Amino acid sequence: MYYNWFVGSDGMELNERQEKILKIVKQHGPITGSKIAEQLSLTRATLRPDLAILTMSGYLDARPRVGYFYTGKESEEVMSSKIRNIIVRDVQSVPILIKKDTSIYEAIVKMFLEDVGTLYAIDEENGLAGVISRKDLLRGTMGGNDIEKTPVSVIMTRKPSITICYPNDLLIYAANQLIEKQIDSLPVVENQDGVERVIGRITKTNIARVFVNLME
Ligand code: ADP
Repeated sequence: MYYNWFVGSDGMELNERQEKILKIVKQHGPITGSKIAEQLSLTRATLRPDLAILTMSGYLDARPRVGYFYTGKESEEVMSSKIRNIIVRDVQSVPILIKKDTSIYEAIVKMFLEDVGTLYAIDEENGLAGVISRKDLLRGTMGGNDIEKTPVSVIMTRKPSITICYPNDLLIYAANQLIEKQIDSLPVVENQDGVERVIGRITKTNIARVFVNLME
C-alpha cells in the first residue's frame, strides 16, 4: 500500500502524495482528476485511491463535470500550529480592578455589576496586590465578619502566591496554568517602572472562545 493512513481517535494523517493533491486543488480547484494527475505526472488510475481517501475524509469534494474542490478542512498540523501561535495579548479581556482596602460588600456588588468571576486588588501604586474569587467572597461573608467594614485584603490571595502571565506568553501556557493550578483566571501583567500593573485577564471563557472561533 502506498498510502499510510491509520486512524486514531483524533483524525487522519495524509501521505506525501495526498498533501500534494490537496495543494494542487487548493490552488487550482475546481480541477478534474485527470488534470491533477497531469500535474503530478501520474496516471488518473494511480491517483484514484488517494482521491477517494481525500473525498471520504472530507478534505475534498467532487462534482460531476466540474471536478475536485477544497472543502476548507484544515489539516491537524495547520490547526495545531495556529493554536500554538496565539499569544495572551490576542485574546485577553479587560481586568476589573479594585483597591485592596475596598470592603467585601463593595467587592461583591462590583462582581455582580461587572459580571465577572474574579476581581484583582491593587495597592497604592496601582500594582497587583491580590486576587479575589467568588469563593473568597463567600468565605468572607462567613464567620461573622462585618462585610461592610472588612477589606478584601483580608480574604484575597496575595503575592507571591498569585499566578500571573505576560501579554507575550503563549495562550497554551496560560491555559496550562489554569488547569494545573485549578483556577479560573490569570491576571495579565506588565512591568511599568518597577510596578506590576494588571493590563488584562485570561479566563476559561477566553480560551473556550478561541476554541470555538478556530472550529468555525
Ligand atoms: P472560585 O473560588 O470562584 O472557584 P478560582 O478557582 O479562580 O475561583 O479560585 C480558587 C482560589 O484560587 C481562590 O482562593 C482564589 O483567590 C485563588 N486564585 C484565583 N486565581 C488565582 C491566580 N491567578 N493566582 C493565584 N491564586 C488564584
